[in-house]
Amino acid sequence: MLKKLFCLTLISVFFLPSLALAKTKQSITLLLYNGKVFSADEKGTIYEAVAVDGEKIVAVGNSKDLRAKYKAKQAIDLKGKFVTPGFNDAHIHFGSVGTALLRVDLNGSKTLAEAKRRIAEKIKELPKGAWVLGRGWDHTLWNNKLPTRADLDDIAPDNPVFLQRVDGHISWSNSLAFKLANITKDTKAPEGGEIVYDKNGEPEGVLKETAQGLVGRVVPKTTQAEFAKGLELALEEAKKFGLTSVQSGGDFGAIPLYQKLLEQDKLTVRAAIWQNFETPVETLKKQRSDFQALKLNPSHLKLGILKGYMDGTLGSRTAAMLEPFSDDPKNKGIPRRPAEEMIKMIVERDAAGFQMGLHAIGDRANRIALDGFEMAKNKRPKEKTETVKLGGNVAQTTSTLYVYDKRHRIEHAQVVAPSDFNRFAELGVIASMQPTHAITDKRWAPARLGEYRSLGAYAWNTFMSNKVHIAFGTDAPVEPLNTYLTLYAAVSRQDISGNPTNGWLPQEKLSMEDAIRNYTYESAFAEFSEKEKGTIEVGKYADLVVHSKDLLTIPHKEVLNTRPTHTIFNGKIIYEMK
Ligand SMILES: [Zn+2]
Repeated sequence: MLKKLFCLTLISVFFLPSLALAKTKQSITLLLYNGKVFSADEKGTIYEAVAVDGEKIVAVGNSKDLRAKYKAKQAIDLKGKFVTPGFNDAHIHFGSVGTALLRVDLNGSKTLAEAKRRIAEKIKELPKGAWVLGRGWDHTLWNNKLPTRADLDDIAPDNPVFLQRVDGHISWSNSLAFKLANITKDTKAPEGGEIVYDKNGEPEGVLKETAQGLVGRVVPKTTQAEFAKGLELALEEAKKFGLTSVQSGGDFGAIPLYQKLLEQDKLTVRAAIWQNFETPVETLKKQRSDFQALKLNPSHLKLGILKGYMDGTLGSRTAAMLEPFSDDPKNKGIPRRPAEEMIKMIVERDAAGFQMGLHAIGDRANRIALDGFEMAKNKRPKEKTETVKLGGNVAQTTSTLYVYDKRHRIEHAQVVAPSDFNRFAELGVIASMQPTHAITDKRWAPARLGEYRSLGAYAWNTFMSNKVHIAFGTDAPVEPLNTYLTLYAAVSRQDISGNPTNGWLPQEKLSMEDAIRNYTYESAFAEFSEKEKGTIEVGKYADLVVHSKDLLTIPHKEVLNTRPTHTIFNGKIIYEMK
C-alpha cells in the first residue's frame, strides 16, 4: 500500500509539475535573478541568482531553479548585471567623513591660491570671530612648500583658522589662531611634535603631529548636533558607493548617536567603533563592559579594535624609518614613543583580551608593532590543564580558555622591511591597507624611500603571496570614501589620469577578484565577522551591491565610472540609481 502511494505521488509530480510546484513555492522577500553574482567566497564562485528572506540570504544558484522554488515579494531581473557583497571599509573615520562634509574641503587644491579661494568662500558664510575649520590641503601639490600663517592673515584677519593637511598629521593656522592658543617664539613643542619656525625664529603657522594640539585644544568641540548632521550625510554618501560596513576610528564619543540611529532604523551600515589604545587599560575594560550592558545587536553596532599610533606619515616625513629618508638624510621620522614603552602597552592590552590595530607607516614602526605582537603572543599562557570530577572519576582535560585568535592588525603597513612580511603571516597579523594611499603617495614616495625600500611599499601582492590577510579600506576623509576608486587603485596602481602607464610597481597590482574579496570577506575577517557577512553565501546577511558595470571584464579606467544601481543592506534596498 505504502509503495503504491509512493508511486502515485511520483507520477503526479512528474505529470503535473506546474501544479505541484505552485503549491510548494516558498515565500521570500527578495529575489535577484539573471545576474552575474560574484560571491567572493574562497573559490570566487559566480551564481546567476540570489534569494533573500528578511535580513539573510536563503539561496544562491541559477535563475531557473530559484525562480521555480521561490515566490518573492520583490523580484528583480538583473539583465546580466554584476553583483558583489556590500563593501566593508576596514579603516575609516566615518564621523569625520560627516563633519568634513560640513567644513572647508581643501582636497585636490592644486595651488595655494585655489586653497585660499575655497577658504575665503567659507569665511563669507561665517560670523566674525567664528573658527574656520577644514582639511585636505597637500603641499606636495604646491612645489613642496609648506604654507604659512601670513598666507592666511590677508583673507582671515578676524577669524581663527585651523586646517589640517590631507593626512591629518600637520595643521596650518593664521596669526589669530596662534594668538588665541598663546603660541609665541618661546613655546616649546610637546614630545612627538614640531613647531615650524621662520628664519627669525617666529612660529610660521604650521604645527606637526602632537604639536597640532597646541591650537587643537582651543578649537571649540564639534557639537552633538553638528556631528549628528554629519553622520546622516556620511550615511547618504555610503549608500551611493555600496558601502554597507564601516570600521570607524574617532567615533567612540559618538556611540550614543550611532545607537539612536540604530533605534530609529536609520543606521544603514554595520559599524564597529574603535576604542583608543592610549586609554588606560582599566578604563578600556570599563568602556567595554559599559558597552556590553547596552545589549545592542553586535551585527549592527559593536566595539572594534583599539586604535593606536606607532608613527606619523610619509608625506609629512614623520613615519618612523630604520634608515633616514632618502630625500632627508638626517631624518628618520618620529616614533610616537620609545619602543620598550610601546611594547609594554601592547602586551598589557593583549592580556586584557583586546584586539589592536596600530597605525604603522615606516619600516621601523611596523617592526616595533610586530615585536610587540610577538612578545604578547609569547606571554600568553599556552594552554590550561584542568582537573574535572566526572561521576566520581577524576579526569584531566586540557582546554584552551584563552582566545588565541587575536587577529591583531597593523593599520596602513605601508613600508615593510623585506624580512618582516613573513612575520605578519607567522604571527597572524592582518595588514589593514588603503589602496588609494598608494596612488596618492606615488608622487613623492620613491623620493622619500629610494629605489630599494620602495619595493616593500604598499606591497599588496607580496603580502598576499606570503599568505597574509589584507583588509581594504580608504582612511576617509584622508582619501575619498569612493569604493570604486579603491578598487581601481588596487588593480591599476595608476592615478586617475592613468599614470604611470603600466602602474607604479606593477608587480604589486591585484586581480579584481582579489581586490573585491579583500574589501568584503577579508575586511569582515579583520573584525571577526566573516561568518555572518563578507560573501554571498546562504545564512549570511543580505548586504549586496548591484553594479552598473561588470567590474570583472571592463577596462580599469571604466571602474571609476561604475556606481551601484542598487545597494541592499540587511535585505532591504536602501539605494537605487535614479
Ligand atoms: Zn586613519
